[in-house]
Amino acid sequence: MPHSSGGGSHGGGSHHSSHSRSHSGSGSSGPSRIVRKTYFSGARRYVVYNRRKHIPVYYYSNYALGGKYSKWRLLLLLFYLPFFMAMIGLFTSAFVTPKKIMDDGCDLKTPMIIDAADVIDDEGELYDTLEDFADLTGIVPYVVTLNNEDWKQSNYYSYDLEDVAYDLYVDYYFGYDENHWLLVYSQPENPDPDFNDWYWEGMQGDNTDSILTDAKTGTFTSKVQRCLTAGDDFGEALVSGFDKITPGLMDSYIDFEILIVCGFMSLFIFFHCYLMVFFDPNKKFRGAVELAPEQQVEVACDYCGGKYVSGSVDKCPYCGAPARIAAVDPATMPNLNTYVYSNSTPDKLASTNGGYTSEYDEIFKDQFHETKLN
Ligand SMILES: [Zn+2]
Repeated sequence: MPHSSGGGSHGGGSHHSSHSRSHSGSGSSGPSRIVRKTYFSGARRYVVYNRRKHIPVYYYSNYALGGKYSKWRLLLLLFYLPFFMAMIGLFTSAFVTPKKIMDDGCDLKTPMIIDAADVIDDEGELYDTLEDFADLTGIVPYVVTLNNEDWKQSNYYSYDLEDVAYDLYVDYYFGYDENHWLLVYSQPENPDPDFNDWYWEGMQGDNTDSILTDAKTGTFTSKVQRCLTAGDDFGEALVSGFDKITPGLMDSYIDFEILIVCGFMSLFIFFHCYLMVFFDPNKKFRGAVELAPEQQVEVACDYCGGKYVSGSVDKCPYCGAPARIAAVDPATMPNLNTYVYSNSTPDKLASTNGGYTSEYDEIFKDQFHETKLN
C-alpha cells in the first residue's frame, strides 16, 4: 500500500511521514540468594582459599557455593546464532545504494500533470522537472490539483486530503503498482484573497522507499510547504522541492536510523548472551568448601605456610602438600578447653596452635590422655 510522503495545509503547517519502531525487553528475578561475610539465620558456612594471599576467606550463604562453570552452557551460543546473523543483516542494510526502479509493470510510465483546479502557471517547467526526476529514479510522478469542493463534504468530517490522495493512488491511477509518487493539491474554487485554504499531500508507492527516504521526503515537504506559504503556486513549489532533492538522490547513503537501532539491539543481545552464557556470579566462590560447625581451627601448612581449616581439605589448597590435622580440635574434643586451656577461646586456640610441630602434637595428645584418664 502506498503511504504519505508528507504534506500540509495553509492553516496547519506541514507534516512529515513517520515510521515508528519500538522494542521492549523484560527482566526476571529468582528466589533471593544471599551471601554474607557474617552469619545470618539459615546460613551455612563456607571457606574459599585465596591462592594469592594464602588465607582462608569465610562466607555465610543460604545456597550452595562452589558450583562449577558448566561447559554445556556454551551450547546456548547456538540459540544466539540467528540473532547475531539478523544483526549482521540489519547492519549491512544500513548501507544503501539506491537502484533505479526499472520494471514498473504499469502503463503509466511518463509523468502527468492533471491541473483540474487550474492553479499551475508554468506546466512546461514543472513537466521538465518531473521528467528529469523520473529518468534518474524510475519513479513516475503524477501531479493532480483539485478544488476543496470536490472532496470536502460536510457529512465526511474525517475525510481529509491524505485520504483523497490514497484513494486517487490506489483506486483511480495505479492500483497495486507501488512505483509512483502522486502529488495532490487542493484549494477552494474561489479562494478568499485574505486566506487561501489550500492543502497538499504526497503519496508514494512502497517500492520508492529506498530512494524517497523519510529524510529526503522530509526535505522535500519542508521546501514545498515554505514555497506555498510564501505564495508560490503549486507548480513553482514542486519545482523548488524537486530541485532540492533530485541531485544526489541516487548517491549511496548510510541509514543512521537503522544503524542506531542495530547498535542498541546488538548491545542488548551481546549483554543478554554474556549473562546467559559466560557470566558466572559465583566465580569468586569457585572451589568453596562447606564447613561443618565443628570445623573451626586454622592450621598452617608445613611447606608453604598458607593457612587452611583443619579437616576441610586433603591437601594444602596452595601447594598441594599433605594436609595437617589440628592438634587440638575443640569440636571433636569439646572438653579440652576446660582441661588444658581454660582461658582460651577456640579462635585463640586455633591461631596459637597453627605453628606447632607434629612432635609437639604427639606430646600434647599424651598429655590429653593423661588428663582424661585422671
Ligand atoms: Zn602448603
